Amino acid sequence: MPAELIDGKAMAAAVRDEVAAEVADLVAHGVIPGLTVVLVGDDAASATYVGAKEKASRAAGMAGETIRLPGSTTQADLLAVVEGLNADPAVHGILVQMPLPKQIDPDTVIRHIRPDKDVDGFHPVNVGKLLIGHTDGFVSCTPAGVIELLLRSGVETRGAEVVVVGRSNIVGKPMAALLMQARVGGDATVTVCHSRTRNLVAHTRRADILIAAIGQAEMITGDMIKPGAVVIDVGMNTKPDPTTAKGTRLCGDVHFASAVDVASKITPVPGGVGPMTIALLLRNTVRAARRTLEAAR
Ligand code: NAP
Repeated sequence: MPAELIDGKAMAAAVRDEVAAEVADLVAHGVIPGLTVVLVGDDAASATYVGAKEKASRAAGMAGETIRLPGSTTQADLLAVVEGLNADPAVHGILVQMPLPKQIDPDTVIRHIRPDKDVDGFHPVNVGKLLIGHTDGFVSCTPAGVIELLLRSGVETRGAEVVVVGRSNIVGKPMAALLMQARVGGDATVTVCHSRTRNLVAHTRRADILIAAIGQAEMITGDMIKPGAVVIDVGMNTKPDPTTAKGTRLCGDVHFASAVDVASKITPVPGGVGPMTIALLLRNTVRAARRTLEAAR
């Protein structure tokens, strides 16, 4: 029997409805949650992501703004923009879209964002809070979205063998940290694999829950998956496809056609992790706005 699809689009819509209700409550208390995204340069993929974030935040009733800066922007100029947003009480969440042009150091920029406005969860203060299990920080939206998908699909993480393939700061590492927390959506036994892992298949094949965040199109094939495993595909890659008008198509890190016959549940690409990432960004922004309201009381 083919795996059940984990419908990220529908689950993200449910989160967005919850966010919209929160926004309405905040607005009734005089606070309009504000998310400002900063886009530097004209990378087409980044422009698409930023447009989606602005649209989603406005649809939820939030003040969603985008600051577009030329690709020639200096680091000092970008830091000045970030400082302005840090000081602006109408801005509760700040997101600087990555990647940045090569003259700008992304770590320096991330460290300049106020941790309590860092709704992307990339600031070292928020990463540290995640690792020590403090819940008053912000967690990177993609791994937080994966936990949300697992919870809403009724997947038990407690005691499960989870294998995360990928150790990036934005997905793999925070994913592993979340799954090992002693709380609902955690309590898993986590293995993190990467490009230096010996015998990757030996690890992936013993996973009850397999999470692929690799950036390699369709690398995880059905024979690498334990029968009945839950498979979460974070990957977003483009592959040549002469049958489409564009000549390319979007695909994940998992070879869906072979994995779907082995897994018990699986996320599709598109329509899996991606929509939930944006929903979690909105939720983080609403939480940031809620905290300012509570601090003012
Ligand atoms: P990344 O920074 O490039 O990290 C990729 C990780 O995969 C690295 O840890 C790398 O190992 C590991 N890796 C690469 N080749 C491997 C191999 N052959 N075997 C085992 N491990 C291997 O990528 P990322 O930012 O984490 O993103 C991963 C994927 O998720 C990409 O497709 C990206 O587009 C997608 N993504 C999607 C969303 C979403 O909202 N859906 C959000 C973020 C990212 P080393 O550390 O040893 O190099």
